[in-house]
Amino acid sequence: MFRLTARCVLALLSTLFLLLVPGTASATGLSGSSVHVSAPAEQVAAEEADEEEGEAEEEAFEWSYHIGSSCEGLEADIREGADFWEGAQETEGSGTRVNCTEDMIQGCGDDDSEEGESEYIGCNWGDGTISVSTQADDFPLIVAHEFGHNWYEHSDVRCMGWASEDAVMAPTMC
Ligand SMILES: [Zn+2]
Repeated sequence: MFRLTARCVLALLSTLFLLLVPGTASATGLSGSSVHVSAPAEQVAAEEADEEEGEAEEEAFEWSYHIGSSCEGLEADIREGADFWEGAQETEGSGTRVNCTEDMIQGCGDDDSEEGESEYIGCNWGDGTISVSTQADDFPLIVAHEFGHNWYEHSDVRCMGWASEDAVMAPTMC
């Protein structure tokens, strides 16, 4: 509320300034108001921070994930799967969340398959969460695969493997 009010006052001041100095209104109106109406310091700082972030993103692609408490003891395998994709940043609570289970996973994806309810060893729910099952023969690989669904659909490769991104994104572990 305070901010809104402050901005309204600033806008009024700059309008007044332009009215009082009609000769500068058209060509130099903008520079005139920037001299006489300074933005709040915190707003300027925020804008500068935004610019720095933008530059960082251009330099290197980074993505982040965090490991849920259900994955206790599996952290090393999850990091191995995450690190397949360049720029992986482990965090305390932001980015894609990893949930672990010892059971098969149900209700993943479009269940318009004629088999009805299918069971999976992993699922990327599309809401910033992945679930991975320790029943996978290669647990780090299913982790890499489900993270990969953040960007990719399944590939045409038949069986999952570590050889390439397409291999990781194969639809089945066989
Ligand atoms: Zn998949």
